[in-house]
Amino acid sequence: MLKKGTKLYSILTGSCPKCHQESMYVNKNPYKPGHLFKMNERCGHCDTKYKIEPSFFYGAMYVSYAVGIAFAVAAFVIARLLFGASLIITFIAIVATMVLFMPVIIRLSRNIWINLFFKYEPESKALGN
Ligand SMILES: [Zn+2]
Repeated sequence: MLKKGTKLYSILTGSCPKCHQESMYVNKNPYKPGHLFKMNERCGHCDTKYKIEPSFFYGAMYVSYAVGIAFAVAAFVIARLLFGASLIITFIAIVATMVLFMPVIIRLSRNIWINLFFKYEPESKALGN
């Protein structure tokens, strides 16, 4: 279902936004301590430079608001509507979700952000940008 060539593939797997051939991250697991923000500088396959400009990924913070709200809404729906939890339990569930999924939210936001600037070009091997 999740096919290479769609933005969703790059966003969900954290792969290079241009060639989808390899991960942008040094370690694919965002929960590995100290590895959350560690990204390769360039794609080893198509040589895309991920950080377009020095503070490029600051923009991902805006995306993380939206992604964070999406997770909060999901937690609300599951706790309140699915399990019929009380308001206080629902609130705790939302906070716990946000904390637990923070690494995922941060990486998803970066992946979405970078995919706004690149598009899938499977043949763009080593054009050296
Ligand atoms: Zn690439």
